[in-house]
Amino acid sequence: MIDLRSDTVTKPTMAMRQAALEAEVGDDVYEEDPTVKKLEAKAAEMLGKDAALFVTSGTQGNQIAVLTHCNPGDEVLLEANAHLFLYEGASMSALAGVQPRTITGQKGAMDPAEIKTAIRPDDIHFPETGLICLENTHNKAGGTVVPLENMQTIYEIAREHSIPVHLDGARLFNASIASGISLKSYGDQTDTIQVCLSKGLGAPVGSVIAGSTDFIRKARKWRKRLGGGLRQVGMIAAPAYVALTEMVDRLADDHEHARRLASGLSEVKGLQVEEVETNIVLAHVGGTGRTAAEFLEELKVDDILAVPFGPETVRFVTNYDVNEAAIETVIHRIQLRYKDA
Ligand SMILES: *Cc1c(COP(=O)(O)O)cnc(C)c1O
Repeated sequence: MIDLRSDTVTKPTMAMRQAALEAEVGDDVYEEDPTVKKLEAKAAEMLGKDAALFVTSGTQGNQIAVLTHCNPGDEVLLEANAHLFLYEGASMSALAGVQPRTITGQKGAMDPAEIKTAIRPDDIHFPETGLICLENTHNKAGGTVVPLENMQTIYEIAREHSIPVHLDGARLFNASIASGISLKSYGDQTDTIQVCLSKGLGAPVGSVIAGSTDFIRKARKWRKRLGGGLRQVGMIAAPAYVALTEMVDRLADDHEHARRLASGLSEVKGLQVEEVETNIVLAHVGGTGRTAAEFLEELKVDDILAVPFGPETVRFVTNYDVNEAAIETVIHRIQLRYKDA
């Protein structure tokens, strides 16, 4: 099987397994695990924030951010196809008691003018605008890089209104590698950030959230409330540290593979392929006469896995466990199957 369903499917490298084996550990609820402390310090430094907190998943990190920034009854502004809105089981409503309000973006970027008008004036009828969430790269838009200037403008508006900004940077490393803009420059345009270490970077488990010392102190309490206070967590923080320090630059390979895949697929009759910016390839398959589900069934017969991303859209995500030869195989098999489509 060539697995292009997600970049979450990668297995930990030998270096990660070795690091887990040798990790120095302690009870992290007492803040005595040196390995997790080292990971958090490194992540904070890379993202240009005062402090960071290791969390079990991207969803947990995003939700801790919402819980920490907001009060029940607040309204959260976010993009209409944001992961926080689409794929987190409405946890911002279920857990934080906040109301999401969506703004439809262009390639994942929201229009700052629309944000400005969506911010609630002081009125007894209205919710308070408690938080603005951004996502970079934007998953549903196809791994698009949200321009730094867009984030900058939104952050200025947010600060004028004293509204915090949280960045869902599950794939911020991909954005940084693709754009050449440092993580810290992105970090400068937001109050808090969540980054996933178990996606393109290949760690077995874990995300990090970063922000001010005061934010992280409060976030640590929310993590404990959610049952996310872990004990000898250095066992998983050690491979996460390897991911953070040794696996970022190699994302360029995933991006190269995605471009190659897109160019190969665009030659297939009936496939319409979106322009690739990072490691995600979106193909509209309607022209082959198949729905996304039917197309994926046929792919599976050819030992290729991807996921549906709409009734006639399929998402492929390149990752560490799929090399150049495998990408050529995928292109070859799809070209062969649909040559008469
Ligand atoms: C994967 C992802 C998340 C959530 O991460 P999990 O570790 O799967 O909970 C959040 N935001 C985006 C944009 C993602 O792609």
